[in-house]
Amino acid sequence: MGEFDIIGRYFDRGPARRVDLGVGDDCALLGASVSDQRAITTDMLVAGRHFFADVDPRSLGHKALAVNLSDLAAMGARPEAFTLAIALPAFEPQWLDAFAAGLFSLADAEGCELIGGDTTRGPLCISITAIGRLPAGSALRRDGDQPGDDVWVSGALGGAAAVVAMRAGQLAGRDATHLPETLALRLDWPQPRLALGTELRHLASAAIDVSDGLLADLGHIADRSRLALQLQAERVPVDPSLSALGAARALDFALAGGDDYELAFAAPAENRLAIEALGARLGLPLSRIGVALAGEGVSVADAHGRPVAVTARGFDHFAGEPQH
Ligand code: ADP
Ligand code: MG
Repeated sequence: MGEFDIIGRYFDRGPARRVDLGVGDDCALLGASVSDQRAITTDMLVAGRHFFADVDPRSLGHKALAVNLSDLAAMGARPEAFTLAIALPAFEPQWLDAFAAGLFSLADAEGCELIGGDTTRGPLCISITAIGRLPAGSALRRDGDQPGDDVWVSGALGGAAAVVAMRAGQLAGRDATHLPETLALRLDWPQPRLALGTELRHLASAAIDVSDGLLADLGHIADRSRLALQLQAERVPVDPSLSALGAARALDFALAGGDDYELAFAAPAENRLAIEALGARLGLPLSRIGVALAGEGVSVADAHGRPVAVTARGFDHFAGEPQH
């Protein structure tokens, strides 16, 4: 029983009847006016599950909003407002000062206003619902990919997951000391790719943000678009800081690690030059990593076309639970 089996069995009641798009994409879509839609998304961060309880509260405030804005970016929406529900184990003014500073510096930078929420005592848990806006019919959905489209991803992958592994003590001493300290920024201060998302509305056919791992998240585009995505291993932008771990292990982190909050997207081949120009303009590398074809699933091949076995899969909170 996986996270998505639970959603599918208990919470996904089929295509939305009263709104434009319901369960199943990075955001839901609601008509806002004749010309506009609102995009709505919720993401929750739980202490001990999504972050270490002693994490810097300033970075936690930033990240709690950033992961939600990343879902708006994945639809091509501009942030407008958000709500904040927070459970706190105790009143700690210094912690709250820092948390609020991190939260509002990102909110203010993106013009996104806190409009409400809920505050309670309990195990530390933060749930944000973010609301964005976009021109009607322009959203980047997971189901828009077409056969023959290129598959792209922004930035560099695997850094955040390597930091999680290091902090969890899963990297042996030498490996851990060879990771640069700046890599922690990739985990603690993710940058939602909002400018990329809005620009891609004109260039991409489908998009998703990479929160659970590249293969797992591209799997959602493959499922929803009913296509096979074939990736070339040597084109996957592995975070250069991971080179000390060896090529195979670094590639594993890039393909299956989560928390990168880059955008993976599909686009027609005729948009290649425009996408490369967009990456140059934004100062954000955009890598063409594969192609969409008839079929199903996501596969990875090496430079000789041989399949690459990926030892780890993406993150699933309920993977391994019995089916019942
Ligand atoms: P994301 O990683 O983009 O935040 P998720 O993988 O968490 O998306 O969720 C997949 C889809 O299932 C999304 O459309 C999300 O809104 C929906 N979803 C997740 N949990 C629930 C729930 N408890 N009730 C209804 N919809 C849910
Ligand atoms: Mg998402």
